[in-house]
Amino acid sequence: VIQIDGLHKAYGSLEVLKGVSLKAPRGHVVSLIGSSGSGKSTLLRCCNLLEDSQQGEILFKGEPVKWKGTHHGRRPADPKQVLRIRTNLSMVFQQFNLWAHMTILQNVMEAPLTVLKRDRAEVEKAARGYLDKVGIGDKCDVYPAQLSGGQQQRAAIARGLCMEPEALLFDEPTSALDPELEQEVIKVIKDLANEGRTMIIVTHDMKLAADVSDHVIFLHQGLIEEQGAPDQLFGAPKSERLRGFLSATH
Ligand code: ATP
Ligand code: MG
Repeated sequence: VIQIDGLHKAYGSLEVLKGVSLKAPRGHVVSLIGSSGSGKSTLLRCCNLLEDSQQGEILFKGEPVKWKGTHHGRRPADPKQVLRIRTNLSMVFQQFNLWAHMTILQNVMEAPLTVLKRDRAEVEKAARGYLDKVGIGDKCDVYPAQLSGGQQQRAAIARGLCMEPEALLFDEPTSALDPELEQEVIKVIKDLANEGRTMIIVTHDMKLAADVSDHVIFLHQGLIEEQGAPDQLFGAPKSERLRGFLSATH
């Protein structure tokens, strides 16, 4: 669904991605791991065209993103293409970013109604279905502040699903949560992986990465240091840096 080839991204003189490639084929789960500042969030944001870049290709379902600008800095050229890609890649953040003044049901319905202009009755039916699926079907009419962190994150996932995207992008979806609340979110992510959803997951949770991924990418200072199947990457890491990283994260 998403493919990135040789992506370079700098903030001013700070090179954050130095030629990174990634493939998330349909039905695959790709995890991004690495130390703080290695460029994981930046790479994820590039998938969703939330970042400008300097070089490299981004393809969505084989369709290359069109750019304008120079190699000093370029941005997507076609707003319709950006909208098409973005509405097909739902992003779930560490901080759930629910709208505080809307009920949970309204939060989940908002984008399908306003961005996709879908029929209200259909969207409501789908939204209730997704809230049931993540285990908070009884919370439709309450406001985000009335939910626990784990429930809020599950609502954010339901909101992402309600766009019926081609893929879900997660940026540390459990790291703002207490350990026991983390588990309820992990269960939802595992269910989605078992369903064959295409996902890219930035995570500090090596167990989650090992359990759900088809492919794991270890980023170090803006480059892929090592990548492979989870068994290989966690069971027999080749790179010294990856071994160090894994022993530091136990
Ligand atoms: P973490 O595990 O802490 O979330 P990360 O791997 O997600 O780290 P990024 O957020 O991608 O790292 O950041 C990579 C580098 O880019 C860091 O050095 C960061 O300071 C820098 N950076 C990120 N966003 C910006 C920005 N908007 N402007 C300038 N520098 C930025
Ligand atoms: Mg990050």
